[in-house]
Amino acid sequence: MSKNTGIAIVGGGPSGLLLARMLYLKGVPFTVFERDESPLHRPQGGMLDLHPETGQYAMKRAGLFAEFQKFARYEDQGMRLYDKHGTLVYGNDASEGDRPEIDRSQLRDLLVQSIPQDAIRWGHRLSQAVQLEDGATELRFENGAVEQFDFVVGADGAWSKVRPLVSDIRPGHMGLTMYELSIDDADTRHPEVAALVGRGTAVAKGDGRSIFAQRNANAHIRVYAALPRQEEAFLVETKASLLAHFADWDNKLLQLLHAGEDDVRPWPIYALPVGHSWENRAGVTLIGDAAHLMPPAGEGANLALRDAADLADALTGNGDQASAVRAYEAAMFVRAKVSAGQAMEAFAAGSAEDSLEVVRKRVSGEL
Ligand SMILES: Cc1cc2nc3c(=O)[nH]c(=O)nc-3n(C[C@H](O)[C@H](O)[C@H](O)COP(=O)(O)OP(=O)(O)OC[C@H]3O[C@@H](n4cnc5c(N)ncnc54)[C@H](O)[C@@H]3O)c2cc1C
Repeated sequence: MSKNTGIAIVGGGPSGLLLARMLYLKGVPFTVFERDESPLHRPQGGMLDLHPETGQYAMKRAGLFAEFQKFARYEDQGMRLYDKHGTLVYGNDASEGDRPEIDRSQLRDLLVQSIPQDAIRWGHRLSQAVQLEDGATELRFENGAVEQFDFVVGADGAWSKVRPLVSDIRPGHMGLTMYELSIDDADTRHPEVAALVGRGTAVAKGDGRSIFAQRNANAHIRVYAALPRQEEAFLVETKASLLAHFADWDNKLLQLLHAGEDDVRPWPIYALPVGHSWENRAGVTLIGDAAHLMPPAGEGANLALRDAADLADALTGNGDQASAVRAYEAAMFVRAKVSAGQAMEAFAAGSAEDSLEVVRKRVSGEL
């Protein structure tokens, strides 16, 4: 089999696509392999706020900041915290701030459109990556395709099939599953829900349970009900069974669930250990969740974008590429360890039964 020229990027999420964009700008050949059949294959989930030093930095480096600004919603940075009785414990509806929101689907579209379309191979789900004796990596896909590359980047998220080339560690379940519901056209169809959520994110907490609601573009509201869950029991919830878990919550908050579409999507929360790292191996590295999956605390996609920008610099610089990739990994390990530690702390505080006060301090900036 003849070896491909250029770099293989496995995964067309935020990290893989941003890396692809930066390689494209530098004229370095690459191919993105993505398991989704097409860009519209599945909903991409809620919204992300991009932080100046990570997500926004990466968009600037990729020459996409002006494009990002077209979608960035500075007006949706508010935060509200309720107890389970529906009492507002903290509220900040300010539209000032430097972490504007963007819907995930908008971010993905923007990144997909920023590279040549024939550089993305949709419908390519990697099943195994094997390092060959000559140092090249063979990528074996579920659709039967087999390709060899000298350099492979794992940008394939939580359950990376590239990760086993450098690390035996697998993510562990965090004892929590988030169930996602969608509310369309909230301003018109559910004005009381829109008023409860405000411009940004609303969180309600009590008894180790939470409901998060985010205002997305076009008056769409995405709701996540978070329940303590054992790994094997995360799948089956309907709207009715979810409502039963929150039976003693105030009716105003339950409107967030009542108003949702019937389709309920589970997001079991997994994480890699804080400080996950590996011995450098020539011809392969990881970015984003593949490298440092952590509980959601607003940093994962931001770090993923920053990793991609830094790795692009390493792969396209004038110096020795192998040393540059080692330097990328060393810096990324340090950055990810700090963020993962903070995410774990926030997660633990958010999961604890008596945590409302701690969460209030966090969202208000007192902690
Ligand atoms: C409920 C929830 C809420 C979150 N909220 C936020 C937030 O507000 N802010 C934030 O910064 N982060 C948030 N995160 C984290 C964020 O989603 C991730 O950190 C981020 O998406 C990581 O980007 P990535 O490119 O590394 O991986 P992913 O976004 O997971 O992308 C991986 C890509 O690889 C593809 N893929 C996977 N396996 C294969 C395979 N075998 N072969 C080929 N392709 C494959 C996938 O289809 C996908 O397109 C949240 C996570 C969850 C679960």
